[in-house]
Amino acid sequence: MHTCKGAAALFYLERLPCPVLVTDVSGYVLHSNLEFINLVGPGVGDTMERYFPPASRIFLQTHAWPLLLNNGEFSEVYLQLLSADRQPIPVMSNARISDLDGERVVVWLFFVAKERQRFEAELLKARQQAQDTAAKLAKVNIELQRANAQLAEYAAEVKTEAEQLVQLSHTDPLTGLGNRRALSLHVEQWINCATDQSVGSLLLIDVDFFKQVNDRFGHGEGDRALCELARQLLGSVRAQDTVVRYGGEEFAVWLPYSDRQGAELTAQRVHDHIARVQVAGQHITVSIGLTSCAPQGQKAARFLERLLSEADTAMYEAKHRGRNRTVCFADL
Ligand code: GH3
Ligand code: MG
Ligand code: MG
Repeated sequence: MHTCKGAAALFYLERLPCPVLVTDVSGYVLHSNLEFINLVGPGVGDTMERYFPPASRIFLQTHAWPLLLNNGEFSEVYLQLLSADRQPIPVMSNARISDLDGERVVVWLFFVAKERQRFEAELLKARQQAQDTAAKLAKVNIELQRANAQLAEYAAEVKTEAEQLVQLSHTDPLTGLGNRRALSLHVEQWINCATDQSVGSLLLIDVDFFKQVNDRFGHGEGDRALCELARQLLGSVRAQDTVVRYGGEEFAVWLPYSDRQGAELTAQRVHDHIARVQVAGQHITVSIGLTSCAPQGQKAARFLERLLSEADTAMYEAKHRGRNRTVCFADL
């Protein structure tokens, strides 16, 4: 039986607008108010542990009870109660050791943390969304990296192809020598660096009676001879000189910074090297037109036109004079 004072205390606890539990200091339930019973169901005559899910039970044992026994009270400790249908109900709890009729009891007040539950649910949802977004981003990132790598690979291929195309557009497919475009390019590059007084020379080389080679030994043999002629021409010039296949059986050799004297030496080497080429035991000869001149302010295209025209005139004169020789335009 409670004393008058004890009964009054319980009366007030009963009417508090929140769930209230009264236990002894070992957690044995002495009293619960109507709010508490409505929330979790009746349970006087048992330990309070049964009202809590395992995590809260552990928390009670390891934190809440030591705090309470040490300080005589605690406030705003987050716990979870179990509803009658065993659903967790988040609550903020205050507890205090009091004296009830000379007996040490613990009064537990619980405040249902509905907002907190809502926040928690929203937080969980937001965290899930953030995780989903991060996962999607990571996936997109991987795809982007893959696409980037493919793009880089593609760009490298395109660059290589473009370089190959440029190379091809400057190359004669039969002999592998440069073509007319390559000749223009080299003369242009030279004229951009040369002074007006710098001298360059051009040899225009036409194979003598080449038609007969084709007629007698066939076009395939003619092609092989052209390739061998190209090889010999390359062996006759300096590293800085340019040998191109100018037409069918015509070659041109551009000799930068080379005057008539130097060009004549090269022309002689060409005759010597070409003499090594034979088709079915027959020696091949060439006629060479030679010209040397300085740009004197002329643009590359105009300068090259002049070189070609003079060398062509000289080459025809070499044919006219009996072939297998070099004629210098300056002597005409
Ligand atoms: P010339 O001493 O007057 O120069 O006599 P030529 O027979 O060399 O002169 P012509 O211009 O009459 O003949 C050139 C020949 O070169 C004709 C053509 O069949 C041959 N020719 C041109 N291009 C090629 C080629 O790519 N391959 C082969 N096999 N022959 C070619
Ligand atoms: Mg010809
Ligand atoms: Mg010819």
